[in-house]
Amino acid sequence: MSASMDLDLLRHLTSLPGLSGFERPVADFIFGRLAELGLDTRVDTIGNVTAHIPGSGPRLMLIAHMDEVGFMVRKVYQNGFLAVQRVGGASQHALSGQLLHVWADESPLPGVVGVLPQHLAMDVLPPPLEKVYIDVGASSREEAFALGIRPGTVITHAPTFELLNKKMICAKALDDRIGCYLLLHLAERWHNRRPECELWLAFVVQEESHLGRATLPVARAVKPQLAIGVDATLAFDTPDLTDGQTDVALGEGPAIKVMDHLPGTLWGFLGHEGLRSHVEDVAEKSGLPLQREIVAGLSTAVAPLPFAEEGIATAALSLPLRYSHSPVEVLHMDDVVTADNLLEALVGSTWPLDRILRSSPRGRRER
Ligand SMILES: [Zn+2]
Repeated sequence: MSASMDLDLLRHLTSLPGLSGFERPVADFIFGRLAELGLDTRVDTIGNVTAHIPGSGPRLMLIAHMDEVGFMVRKVYQNGFLAVQRVGGASQHALSGQLLHVWADESPLPGVVGVLPQHLAMDVLPPPLEKVYIDVGASSREEAFALGIRPGTVITHAPTFELLNKKMICAKALDDRIGCYLLLHLAERWHNRRPECELWLAFVVQEESHLGRATLPVARAVKPQLAIGVDATLAFDTPDLTDGQTDVALGEGPAIKVMDHLPGTLWGFLGHEGLRSHVEDVAEKSGLPLQREIVAGLSTAVAPLPFAEEGIATAALSLPLRYSHSPVEVLHMDDVVTADNLLEALVGSTWPLDRILRSSPRGRRER
């Protein structure tokens, strides 16, 4: 079992720009790491990366998403300022005054989001997205164009990576580079061993813009019997959210999802009961804390998998995260290490496939 974190790996993963639909820098890095380990690694037409670790037992696919929320240039004003289009649910609350990276070229141009001077901002609400503008220092549209900026130019949060009180990590894009980190870390430990399952690691695109649709071609290619998503979820442990809809908190272990749901839609996820129960059993036997999650307002890349192929038993493991979709997302290192150890225990233990698939809600003790 691992006892610590590879902070350099996570720092690097979060520093990469991977706007939804433009994940190439993240995919290239992940592909390189997996190929270096000698794993059979593939990239599909839309950019999903999968790697196979042969073993014995059922076909298990672990999934993380590579993309992050952000923006793109919608148009360039005559005076050189940029209008933005939001891609995915980037935080609007955290937008004014932010430092952003504008990817007109291989290396980013710094840009700042315009903010009304406080002297003039008494009783003024933050502007709607249509009024938000970015200042890259260009004085005219021609100057911005000469910098390589066009409609569609990718914009990401500028990277940060700080330790808070030596136990929490603050960075952009922890959602879901933390999942990518955990899967890569697992690959490093298992590339020359045989797990108790046929293991596939899937790094998917466009979760922040299209939820789980990108996971479908991967499921078609891999045909897993079991799938577990590894992603971030909302923590409700800050002063503004205590007594919120869940008790999920940092430092209490990863969360196992019972369900999630996007209000006003029929989109969401109900975890497979047998697989969830197996994950809970393995955590309990390994002495690893796990929280249960029932949450409205978000969903994940694994949401379509129960209905993919001939039906896939699917579970979702979530790392509690504060300030989601902002440039200062925060998670607890203990939760990462626990998730790491839990994935290790799952991959290394035998899979009672019949019991998992036939598990019924009746006759099992409630925790
Ligand atoms: Zn996510």
